[in-house]
Amino acid sequence: MSKFCCKCGKTDAEGQIIDGFCLECYKDEFPLIKSLPAKQLVLTQCKICGDFMYHGKWRGTHEDRKETIQEIIDEFFSKAKKVKNCKKVLVADFDEPLPEEAGKQTIRIVFEGSPKEEVPPYQQEVALEMVVNIGVCDRCAKLARGYFESIIQIRSEKRIIKEEEQLKISELIQEKKAEMADGNKMAYISKVVDKAKGGIDLFIGSEEFAKSLAKYLTEKLAASIEYSTKLKTMKDGKPIYQSTYCVRIPYFEIGDVVRYQSKAYQIVGINYGRVELLNLKTREHKTLSLKESHPSFLKVLKKKDQFQRFIIVAIQGAYISVMNAVSYESMDVNRQVITPEHKEGEEILMVELPEGLFEVQDL
Ligand SMILES: [Zn+2]
Ligand SMILES: [Zn+2]
Repeated sequence: MSKFCCKCGKTDAEGQIIDGFCLECYKDEFPLIKSLPAKQLVLTQCKICGDFMYHGKWRGTHEDRKETIQEIIDEFFSKAKKVKNCKKVLVADFDEPLPEEAGKQTIRIVFEGSPKEEVPPYQQEVALEMVVNIGVCDRCAKLARGYFESIIQIRSEKRIIKEEEQLKISELIQEKKAEMADGNKMAYISKVVDKAKGGIDLFIGSEEFAKSLAKYLTEKLAASIEYSTKLKTMKDGKPIYQSTYCVRIPYFEIGDVVRYQSKAYQIVGINYGRVELLNLKTREHKTLSLKESHPSFLKVLKKKDQFQRFIIVAIQGAYISVMNAVSYESMDVNRQVITPEHKEGEEILMVELPEGLFEVQDL
């Protein structure tokens, strides 16, 4: 006796019949996903930081925000009623929610599996509607109310922080922030440039991040650091402390002439907090250790704006005659103190020190 599908009438001559259904009808009759935990996948997106909230919980967002949505989709389907052992095999490409904008889109997800051993695995596509609402996460709300755990004060010795230094500091903050992008969004920073004090104040949501950023800035800027803490308030009977890191940028800068171990050097670079020196007498280069790249080892002899322009008048053997480009005063200097490639008539930059005149680089 031939079997036939009770739904479409197909006979077993045309294909396998299982429990009274052909495979085509079996799929429809016994879907892999029986019911969803909700009609739609509803998320809230923080309009400030872009994090997502699902099921009343804000979660840390990956740099690729779509990855976070994928995780939320998995969580959503983990609560669905479904055939045991059926697997998600494909999530069709979807659009990353626009920041600061609510939106809705349908995401196609394909599952594969089989409820019974004798039934060959089949696929089912689910069209899941994802709704993205707009809100503000707890952390951003806190920060908006002026909550912070730590302040980094960036100051410099006896001078204001220059614009190019401010840019450099902003870059360093971005670098460190990118490193911490994952878990620690409390790292949120608001920056205040205090024109009167000539410094920068950073208000930071996370003590841990403040500590690591302060250390990073100190290293990169050849700065020194001081730490202090004070009781800010009491919360539920517990003391809340606020820490302050004072990062002091040294008086010396690239280009300045300094005394190091009783010799005169020009600072030709500061890399990863290590000062690179040029010996003005021997023209030899030297890179200091992190420890020695510090004001206690380097005394500023002349700032770079105190250098003067000279014209090479004559080169005679071991001596060179130079003339001050402003006062026209002439003098003879040792040939060694300028770089050998110079010719008569050229203008060079020089620094006047107790031990004589030396050529310096225009940095
Ligand atoms: Zn059928
Ligand atoms: Zn937020």
